[in-house]
Amino acid sequence: MIDQVTNLTDQETPPLGQPTPLLDQPAPLLDRSACLTGQVIHLSGRVIVDATTELTDIWSVGGRLVFERPARPADRRIDGVVLPGLVDVHCHIGLGEKGAVTPAEARAQSLADRDSGVLLVRDAGCPRQPYDTRWLDDQIWAPRLVRCGQHLAITKRYLRHLPRNVEPGQLPQAAQVEALAGDGWVKLVGDWIDRSMPRPDLALLWSDDELSQAVQRVHALGARLTTHVFSAAGAAQALRCGVDCIEHGTGMDAAMMAQASRLGVPVVPTMIQRGNFAQIAASGQGKYPVWEAHLRRLYDERYAQVRALYDSGIQLLVGTDESAAIAHGSFYREVDLMARAGIPAEVITAAASYAARRYLGVPGIEPDASADLVVYPADPRQSVAVLGCPKAVVLRGEVVAGTITGRSRPPGKVTER
Ligand SMILES: [Zn+2]
Repeated sequence: MIDQVTNLTDQETPPLGQPTPLLDQPAPLLDRSACLTGQVIHLSGRVIVDATTELTDIWSVGGRLVFERPARPADRRIDGVVLPGLVDVHCHIGLGEKGAVTPAEARAQSLADRDSGVLLVRDAGCPRQPYDTRWLDDQIWAPRLVRCGQHLAITKRYLRHLPRNVEPGQLPQAAQVEALAGDGWVKLVGDWIDRSMPRPDLALLWSDDELSQAVQRVHALGARLTTHVFSAAGAAQALRCGVDCIEHGTGMDAAMMAQASRLGVPVVPTMIQRGNFAQIAASGQGKYPVWEAHLRRLYDERYAQVRALYDSGIQLLVGTDESAAIAHGSFYREVDLMARAGIPAEVITAAASYAARRYLGVPGIEPDASADLVVYPADPRQSVAVLGCPKAVVLRGEVVAGTITGRSRPPGKVTER
């Protein structure tokens, strides 16, 4: 059976781009344990558990990781550099330009992410109506989702169709609802253009008092809160009010970086999104000159500012911000841009895999954990370029993608828009 690609996923998943009429019906619930084939895969080479632990051999037996050679001979062996499945901590599966997408589209999005090696996603906000993505939790072929619920904003103070709009004063209650609806995270929009200002610019959505109360309510439920901030004022407020994680963080200056580092608040720099700032500024067509200049400055400073975030000792995480504007499957583009900013390959590799898993509280490579792994032909700690072309993507003990299956798409030349 060695080298035979036995792949449940191939039987269950029509090729991308083809209609999946079944999924317009309610998705069938699958019993994962009944679907696993029970095959034994021997993974051999350099198995990177974390910054200090490396193994030479591990096995997947029936979808679970085993560190001792099993009695049964392996059905197949895969050699290479093995990492825990990659983690995108800022991604929107199930979200499109007009809000929630159909199950068929959500499926295509999650498969594009999975085939790039992303096996764990913190969903940074997605509507639950008219389509909820909960059905994905029962699909053995789908990457795991840790949801933030629907992101919170104020009416007309953010993009249409995406957030749950609440009015000033309602944030703590709304955050509590989202904490209960998500998987331990709440996401809100901390700043956005305020068109009611005489000279519109990025401005805060919430008062300090309201944001602090929201954080407290979320923490009381055992959940964490992350916030979208572009401006310096937004990041300063987030840090003042005790948020757990910062998305974008483009406006953070040296003092805020030192504070975030001291408090242990990670930043998700979202490099692809930063690269769109010039284009976003241009969309103002001269109507909001202060805002446009602000975004252009953040755009110009993007590489240096991300390098400064790293130098300050802040934990960086990898987030693509894939949704309608950024195509799913762009993880490699994001890490490539982080490398261009001067973040060492070793740090990016950790941020992309085991460090992010630890941060989210999801097992990586450990005995009896789900066999969610990515195998590369070379060590990404030497050069992240190899992250663009996994040899094998193993999800729940099944080889689902990678060059050995012919299902991995080489990233080609990475260009910035
Ligand atoms: Zn986002």
